[in-house]
Amino acid sequence: MASAALGTQVAAAALAPVGSDGFLKGPSLKGNNSLNFRSKPCVGKSLSWEKTQQSRHLNKVFCMSVQQASKSKVAVKPVELENAKEPSLNLYKPKEPYTATIVSVERLVGPKAPGETCHIVIDHGGNVPYWEGQSYGVIPPGENPKKPGSPNTVRLYSIASTRYGDSFDGKTASLCVRRAVYYDPETGKEDPSKKGICSNFLCDSKPGDKVQITGPSGKIMLLPEDDPNATHIMIATGTGVAPYRGYLRRMFMEDVPTYKFGGLAWLFLGVANSDSLLYDEEFTNYLQQYPDNFRYDKALSREQKNKNGGKMYVQDKIEEYSDEIFKLLDGGAHIYFCGLKGMMPGIQDTLKRVAEQRGESWDQKLSQLKKNKQWHVEVY
Ligand code: FAD
Repeated sequence: MASAALGTQVAAAALAPVGSDGFLKGPSLKGNNSLNFRSKPCVGKSLSWEKTQQSRHLNKVFCMSVQQASKSKVAVKPVELENAKEPSLNLYKPKEPYTATIVSVERLVGPKAPGETCHIVIDHGGNVPYWEGQSYGVIPPGENPKKPGSPNTVRLYSIASTRYGDSFDGKTASLCVRRAVYYDPETGKEDPSKKGICSNFLCDSKPGDKVQITGPSGKIMLLPEDDPNATHIMIATGTGVAPYRGYLRRMFMEDVPTYKFGGLAWLFLGVANSDSLLYDEEFTNYLQQYPDNFRYDKALSREQKNKNGGKMYVQDKIEEYSDEIFKLLDGGAHIYFCGLKGMMPGIQDTLKRVAEQRGESWDQKLSQLKKNKQWHVEVY
């Protein structure tokens, strides 16, 4: 399992120009039982970081050259993937899914995370092209327990890679999947007979396994690219970070000839604790490389306290920065929400309260944001 992922990593590293941050190319992996790319000899990370540190004390010319070097992006292919005017939609349907192959499955979270989330790379051979922000459907093998004799139904998963995939060749898609487990409310014990079918199938799959996929689907979370200098405020809980990983790789990691991002991307990520953070190393590296274009705020509900002494949720972070967020929205920023359905009521209450404190009507503001296509929600 790990070696296949490393294979992807090595192949990706071979594509990278000299001076690029090779360590960025895989997910940031945690946990004892999984391969950790940080422990492998990797091009770029310590080199560019140390150089940046040293260069603070050296002359400006040297400093600039180091910054240039650490900002090198990764070449992608085939660039024809940029040519379509519209994203593909439902190329493969539940009755005739595409049979793809699992490349790798890696645990993303550390030992203290409640639950398990995996990064799953799927080889679609370039046959199921998608755009950042779209989803794939997965049909788990077996019979639908609610309809004996019929196959299992499709489950949707946001794609966590760019259209070029983690190996930058347009042949793979990555998913960020949380294993659904069931705890008996009376005993508090896990009941494996009621565990989630598809998420467990995906998290337990092995390199080479076949997986039936449908899609791609969804347009609401597409990254609007008409203005490369736009502001994108991205709010996620848990696996809701998936589409944003794709956006951010496109903005900061890949060398896409027709898309040069010069705006602001601001990610708010809510998870339980620091071991539950997803792709943290990738995001932290963008902060170091693109401090003017990227902001990253984390809400760790079980580790941090909000201003009232309660648990820190994403809406508390939103409140902390509400003045800036409202100004950015007034200036045309896009705002995205992705993750569990339960995140929305708390966020909407906070935004409404803040709007009222500012003497604005939230209902009016929200309908304006929707009308302007600035408001993007995908919760499940
Ligand atoms: P299911 O088998 O469908 O079960 C659902 C839940 O019911 C589970 O929690 C299970 O434990 C519980 N359950 C099973 N049997 C019983 C019973 N007898 N009594 C009570 N409870 C029971 N998920 C991600 O992880 N990552 C993503 O990026 C992602 N993106 C999504 C994007 C969209 C647009 C949508 C709509 C959903 C997305 N999801 C994502 C959610 C995903 O589609 C699945 O719903 C999720 O993985 C659970 O599916 P499952 O087959 O594992 O669980």
